[in-house]
Amino acid sequence: MKTKEERLKLLQEKKKKLVEEKEKVNDFEPSYQILSFGGGVQTQAMLLKLTPLFKDNPKAWVVFADTGNEHQETYDYIKNYSMPYCTKNNINFVRVVNKYGKTLYDYCFDKKIVPSMKFRDCTTKFKIAPIRKFLRDKLKITRKLPCNMFIGISWDEAGRMNPSTVKYAHNVYPFIDGYRDYFELNDGYAKVTREDCMKISLEGFGETPPKSGCWYCPFSRTADFLKTKKENPQLFKKIIMLEENNSRYPEIKLRGMGKNTKSVRDLTDSDESRDSCKSGYCMV
Ligand code: SF4
Repeated sequence: MKTKEERLKLLQEKKKKLVEEKEKVNDFEPSYQILSFGGGVQTQAMLLKLTPLFKDNPKAWVVFADTGNEHQETYDYIKNYSMPYCTKNNINFVRVVNKYGKTLYDYCFDKKIVPSMKFRDCTTKFKIAPIRKFLRDKLKITRKLPCNMFIGISWDEAGRMNPSTVKYAHNVYPFIDGYRDYFELNDGYAKVTREDCMKISLEGFGETPPKSGCWYCPFSRTADFLKTKKENPQLFKKIIMLEENNSRYPEIKLRGMGKNTKSVRDLTDSDESRDSCKSGYCMV
């Protein structure tokens, strides 16, 4: 457990790296422009906003890392709106998958684990790794000629920004701190919120996108689990199976551990007030 001073020091280091990274991306001509595409509210809006940069550009790619377990609404939205939009505007779109040859659900089930909220192994193995493999193996991106990696985090979630952990990709957060002249700046910041992203997508696609993330994601809100229970009991049963199949259940539950953590099967409306995360999904 880190002390308050250690946490503060880490935060200051992270802020410093983020500033350095921002300076790099605005001054540097990248080998490729990459949009890390989760199919949710922010990345759909970013696809629309990045069109002038990505259209007819062989050095720009929209990369969708598919865990195999996104909400059906997300797959439908991508199929009905994002992909036709990319085709129409001659924007490169690719779907990438993990190296295990199975969905994240099956991977966890076979290993008798649940996705860890603390270690975020699922994000690393099923989202980040497939994207990075595509960059290295298909696009041959190296640290000598790094790419820009556009990430859809909105102003209201700025605390989730992180500097890149690899030298061949610079993380870019246009909805927070802008990017050249593609995003309107406001006192040096873009300040595009999740609400703004909803409006951008509604205007661009004619329909607001659903929230992205796996249907059993431990970051999901209680209301999301209860909605699945009501509208798709079979899927809800599969969530319970995943949780209870984990070899350390009931000590470790889908939403973590500790005496106040409830099993998914026991969730009720009254548990909604305990949810701390408003968005309820992971960030790549
Ligand atoms: S949406 Fe949730 S379960 Fe899926 S990869 Fe992200 S953190 Fe893991």
